[in-house]
Amino acid sequence: MIGENLDKIRKELPKHVILVAVSKTKPIEALQEAFDAGQRIFGENKVQEMAAKWEVLPKEIEWHFIGHLQRNKVKYLAPFVSLIHGVESLRLLKEINKQALKSNRIIDVLLQFYIADEETKFGLSEEEANDLLNSEEFKLLQNIQIRGVMGMATFTKDQEKIRGEFQKLKNIQNSLKANCFSDNDLFDVVSMGMSGDYTTAIDEGSTMIRIGSSIFGARN
Ligand SMILES: *Cc1c(COP(=O)(O)O)cnc(C)c1O
Repeated sequence: MIGENLDKIRKELPKHVILVAVSKTKPIEALQEAFDAGQRIFGENKVQEMAAKWEVLPKEIEWHFIGHLQRNKVKYLAPFVSLIHGVESLRLLKEINKQALKSNRIIDVLLQFYIADEETKFGLSEEEANDLLNSEEFKLLQNIQIRGVMGMATFTKDQEKIRGEFQKLKNIQNSLKANCFSDNDLFDVVSMGMSGDYTTAIDEGSTMIRIGSSIFGARN
């Protein structure tokens, strides 16, 4: 089933859109099945769980962290994580930078933006991001690379509301690109879209979708 689900999703995807298979809570066997079907990028939202899976699964897998990252746990991810999606503070960026330096790496991150109207969702405003990116402290961070933006739409069936929120995120990416990253081709990721809304997200300029239940089935 997992392989079939992956094939079905991949068939619909434009070439420029990267598929992150969100495997949180799923057992190793399910990830191995997706790997055997050709999937190489997995997303997890718990540090311990991701590290445990990284230990036992093939090393060519790229691990994306998509959850709320606590500073005291960055050290466990720093040696191997490929992309951290949800960064929303300078304090966290500084810790990622510090741990990346220790691992002799440059770690890719996305800034998370608050686009929904739900208190439970995290993220920066555009103004906060501008302040962060223009701060002297930020400019000192040599071991992180900001690759783009990430956001989560409101949990609703109203696709037009979701569409508006995705447009907002894409507009933020455009303006940050123009204001802060005009000479940096690496700032090109727009991570938006999950099982319920990824086609809308792609219409609105997503370059990276994060799909869990449509690949692995419902979570408990
Ligand atoms: C769980 C999760 C997903 C995947 O959700 P599905 O609806 O199962 O596709 C995507 N992004 C984030 C940040 C998540 O926590």
